[in-house]
Amino acid sequence: MTASDGQDGSADRSLPLAAVQGATEHFFDFNRERLCAWTASNGMPRHVGDQILDWVYRKGTIDPAQMSNLAKGYRVLLSEKFSFTRGRTIAHQSASDGTQKLLVAWGTLGTTLGDQQSVLPILGQGSAQSQVARGSETECVMIPADARRTACISSQLGCPVGCKFCASGIGGLEGNLSAGQILEQVYQLGRLQGVDRISHVVFMGMGEPLANYAAVTDAIRTLNAPWGFGISARRITVSTVGLPAAIRKFCDFEIPVTLALSLHAPNDALRREIIPWAEFSTVDELLDACDEWFTRTGREITLEYILLGGVNDRPEHAEELAFHAKRIHANVNLIRYNEVRGMPFHRPSTDDVLRFQSVLRQREVNAHIRASRGRDIAAACGQLRHEHATTARPPTSGERPGERPGERPGS
Ligand code: SF4
Repeated sequence: MTASDGQDGSADRSLPLAAVQGATEHFFDFNRERLCAWTASNGMPRHVGDQILDWVYRKGTIDPAQMSNLAKGYRVLLSEKFSFTRGRTIAHQSASDGTQKLLVAWGTLGTTLGDQQSVLPILGQGSAQSQVARGSETECVMIPADARRTACISSQLGCPVGCKFCASGIGGLEGNLSAGQILEQVYQLGRLQGVDRISHVVFMGMGEPLANYAAVTDAIRTLNAPWGFGISARRITVSTVGLPAAIRKFCDFEIPVTLALSLHAPNDALRREIIPWAEFSTVDELLDACDEWFTRTGREITLEYILLGGVNDRPEHAEELAFHAKRIHANVNLIRYNEVRGMPFHRPSTDDVLRFQSVLRQREVNAHIRASRGRDIAAACGQLRHEHATTARPPTSGERPGERPGERPGS
């Protein structure tokens, strides 16, 4: 977008909507029904709502001034009512393999910690100090592979799960993103150079999607809708660390998306060491819920397993994992850890990764090693945000490296 000089007071110039005074609603929070109700309440014919959706989701235009088939008065109303972009991109990295990552600052959180607190445990809630240190930022990534353009997006600001190998969990949860903020990430990634349109979406960025259930499911409706992004359900994946109750609830969701369970360890003892949230449910209880998912939806689950060198990458771990995968008819996605500065975990060797996969395959489990993407940028989840925060200010007096808010000491 380019800014209007605003000299003639005309609203049909190139006017950046986010800058319009009084624009109170985030456009991406509105589904078709709400938008058409708003157009009708402002005396516009019903088809105007569809024309606006066509501009945004089909043509990628978010500047009312360029919506040439709308009457000028409608364009003015639109720009007064809505801001289309609430996030400000404060870092943009491109990797040699085409992966691109955005660090987006949000002026305000979409919602607070949400109404799921009574259902889902919230661990390590961010302290005021860590909020000051890190700001209201989330990451999203565009991953190209052949014709695919996958958007890996965040659902929360920070994360309640606190996986010890992940920079996103440092400082805990600071808040939920709104449906609009979730969708805006997809929109922004779709505008990057080299992206014609986003073909796949994975909820594998910052946050636990099922802990922000209402906003995530609302966002999925727009992702999937023909009037919205039009992405087919099987190309949308929700990845959860999992609580049995949340998985069971998700079985009832009307859009047949793919579910992935981030298991990361094959037994309770090891899982609790690396995933604090694991104290709330056993592996067995989780697999029961996954079994129910398979029975009720007929859709296979993918088990995500991040391989941490010397921690969970031994052949005996693969044996246990194979047993679980066969029990719930799951595929296994093996992910080689991307090291995060200051964290005491290491990328496993290629030999160990291949041996792990081969144990699974010998047990007739469908196991893939996910290609490492964007290794020459801060590609691990939360890493860019973490690095941005920890390099954004000098240590305070008496503070040693590894002691800043949001930074863990290295091993
Ligand atoms: S790996 Fe996922 S669930 Fe775990 S802390 Fe990071 S963002 Fe949260």
